[in-house]
Amino acid sequence: MSVAVSDVTRHIVIVGGGSAGWLTAAVIAADHCTRSGSGLQVTLLESPDVGPIGVGEGTWPTMRDTLRRTGVSETDFIRECDASFKQGSRFNQWVNGSDGDYYFHPFVLPQGYLETNLVAGWLERHSHVPFADLVSFQPHLCVHGKAPKQFATPEYAAVANYAYHLDAGKFALFLRKHCTEQLGVRHMLDHVTAIESHDNGDIRAVQTREHGALAGDLFVDCTGLQSLLLGQHYGIGLLSQKHVLFNDSALALQIPCEHDQGSIASQTVSTAQSNGWIWDIGLPTRRGIGHVYSSAHISDAAAELELRKYIERTGSSAGTATPRKLSFNPGYRQKFWHRNCVAIGLSAGFIEPLEASALALVELSAAMLSDQMPATRASMDITAGRFNDAFTYRWERVIDFLKLHYVLTQRTDSDFWRDNCRVESIPGRLQELLDLWRHLPPSRYDLFRVEEVFPSASYQYVLYGMGFRPERGASTRRVDDADRADEYFRATAALTGKMLAGLPTNRELIAHIRHKGLPRSQDGVPLR
Ligand SMILES: Cc1cc2nc3c(=O)[nH]c(=O)nc-3n(C[C@H](O)[C@H](O)[C@H](O)COP(=O)(O)OP(=O)(O)OC[C@H]3O[C@@H](n4cnc5c(N)ncnc54)[C@H](O)[C@@H]3O)c2cc1C
Repeated sequence: MSVAVSDVTRHIVIVGGGSAGWLTAAVIAADHCTRSGSGLQVTLLESPDVGPIGVGEGTWPTMRDTLRRTGVSETDFIRECDASFKQGSRFNQWVNGSDGDYYFHPFVLPQGYLETNLVAGWLERHSHVPFADLVSFQPHLCVHGKAPKQFATPEYAAVANYAYHLDAGKFALFLRKHCTEQLGVRHMLDHVTAIESHDNGDIRAVQTREHGALAGDLFVDCTGLQSLLLGQHYGIGLLSQKHVLFNDSALALQIPCEHDQGSIASQTVSTAQSNGWIWDIGLPTRRGIGHVYSSAHISDAAAELELRKYIERTGSSAGTATPRKLSFNPGYRQKFWHRNCVAIGLSAGFIEPLEASALALVELSAAMLSDQMPATRASMDITAGRFNDAFTYRWERVIDFLKLHYVLTQRTDSDFWRDNCRVESIPGRLQELLDLWRHLPPSRYDLFRVEEVFPSASYQYVLYGMGFRPERGASTRRVDDADRADEYFRATAALTGKMLAGLPTNRELIAHIRHKGLPRSQDGVPLR
């Protein structure tokens, strides 16, 4: 017998207890006073048989706002998730594969970014210096393993914009504890075996093995790559992006630190390989290293060999450890919210982890769901339509931005790199922008939405880092751009000196936080 659809949204059921499920639960429960009993009820159900994916160690600066929003103490987070500070990414050997080939994509905007055409000034007088190194102090902090703040800087506040590197397994457990002990989220450990529907096609309940049916008004599918509710139950297909971004496989390893006094990298290091690239993420107690590659271009065995060589070249040994193989079909769902079901996390889609955009999309999805929570079923379809438009746009921009890292390469050492430059593999909008950027630098006119996933400054860092040069005589906004730009370059150099002298190393700051903690800011006080 089917029970009538409830018109009021009272109970949110989240299926899946990986980073996506717990982040979504935390945001909704904190925003909607779940703990007080007067607001929305939130239940998170996760299978005892299927563990979280256990990768996803690089984040964006948005994570600071997300954690603060949910009432987490930054000190607790850093201690319990084995976290360290991330100030951007360093790309090695992406341009031509030579030893000295590198560029940075830092998190801070170039000094004077909104004031003048720095690109014109750089090209006219300083084109021998890497763009990011000239316009930003942050690459220099990364080179010296510096932290983005001082011991006395309060929780979540920054001297230099920063994100985190973290242990994904510990992160899900940490969020679980916070959600259940502080935010009033109900946690159930059980396996979903079937989905029950109302007559109108909405989900009425998920059927579990031990606890029977769990009914709800809105279901959040955080079941990972299998997309149990949105993909399997509703049949919402995946729009594959393999023709644009070829990588579909990863081999992941963790290497314990041999001693706990060595420096901790302040950036994710991405080193290009013959048919993909290797991520290297430093945590206080280990390095997380993985090779992402295209199975159409290289075998698993050859990819593993390149991974082992990289580990040896960078001063460690993988020993007899066997890397964990992960496979994925790069793409995103035709829509993310259908009827009373919304997918967040891997269930909504996944494209390779270059630039670590997956958790950022989880944060954006959880925030929009919570901010726009439909009060009634009657209004849900309107919200769903807007959510679908917003996230289709965001996935398209993620794809454009990731592809930008490949299309400008001068590497021709394999079909992988040659295929990546084929015109047919370049999305139309990206090609249009590349044509435009021959005359004008990337700007807010190219990316004008509120909460763009990547700001135009990020496009500048990658574009010029990859060796792209505008045409001679490209328009400058003002005749004195080069002089004005020079003032900012001098200011950046002075700031760099001060920061290098005044900031502790990543290792020193993390040791301090472990022993003494960070001062609490008013905003950082956990909810009670
Ligand atoms: C190689 C690789 C590297 C990555 N690196 C990054 C990175 O650096 N930065 C980044 O932002 N992202 C990264 N990601 C993505 C990131 O790992 C995920 O976005 C993130 O972990 C969220 O995963 P999830 O919670 O959606 O899914 P999962 O962690 O897979 O969780 C799925 C959950 O669903 C539950 N479940 C499944 N079936 C059932 C069932 N029948 N009944 C009940 N529960 C069920 C499971 O118990 C589990 O709790 C990476 C991904 C890959 C593959």
